[in-house]
Amino acid sequence: MSLKIGAHVSVAGGVDNAVTNQTEIGGNCGQIFTHSPQVWQNPNIDEDEAEAFRSGTKRDLEGPWVIHTSYLVNLCTPKAGLREKSLDSMQREVDAATRLGIPYVNVHLGAHTGAGVDGGLDNAASVIDDVDVPDDVTILVESDAGAGTKLGGEFEHLAGVIDRTETEIDVCLDTAHAFAAGYDLSSPDAVNETLAAFDDVVGLDHLKCIHLNDSKHACGTHKDEHAHIGEGHVGDAGMERVINHPDLRDVPLVLETPTEDGRGFAWNVDRVRELRHEE
Ligand SMILES: [Zn+2]
Ligand SMILES: [Zn+2]
Repeated sequence: MSLKIGAHVSVAGGVDNAVTNQTEIGGNCGQIFTHSPQVWQNPNIDEDEAEAFRSGTKRDLEGPWVIHTSYLVNLCTPKAGLREKSLDSMQREVDAATRLGIPYVNVHLGAHTGAGVDGGLDNAASVIDDVDVPDDVTILVESDAGAGTKLGGEFEHLAGVIDRTETEIDVCLDTAHAFAAGYDLSSPDAVNETLAAFDDVVGLDHLKCIHLNDSKHACGTHKDEHAHIGEGHVGDAGMERVINHPDLRDVPLVLETPTEDGRGFAWNVDRVRELRHEE
């Protein structure tokens, strides 16, 4: 199976620029925001851009794109106003995905802010079921570092939303988040155990994307800060096992690594390719 590796790239100047941005760093799949993730905003994509994105993707890339939703979306919220805005935003993202030929829309569950774990998961499932999801798009709920009342830090939360929704949804595992949430990934044995736990609770058949990031903080700290591949607390041994685990070899790997120390996505893509053993 071929390695699917890419990064979260910019759509500045037009969504079709993401294809060039991806090939320039050596990626063959990847992720985008359809607009600034820090504000409520609508994806504003005209048909020429959408067509250029679709044809460029078909021509130059191998793996899938993922749309990452706005950071303001909170599926777990007990507040009616925020729920409405989150639902509206989700609807626009899945509609943008189908126009762009993107199969996945990735979302954080958000924080329950007092509703409790079960209440928060009920809320998240209810919002997802109110989204009119096109047939060719799947919502992915992302694992979280689990700070405060944010859900998604425990695999049980991800399984809990899957159980509660009538919509078919899948999961994105962020290695930095899972590690910060307390799932060790820093050695081959630890990776095997964490994936076995994921398989038991969620099921590996639901794993459609991995956000491949190392972590600047130790396991179980609940602190979410990404590091270059192999340079954080996960380290080369853990990363090498994730990249080569027999159950993960065909899962798209999307980097959200920092751009600092003179290293950007191209350096991290190269590092992943070096750590990959071809059969
Ligand atoms: Zn994310
Ligand atoms: Zn993160």
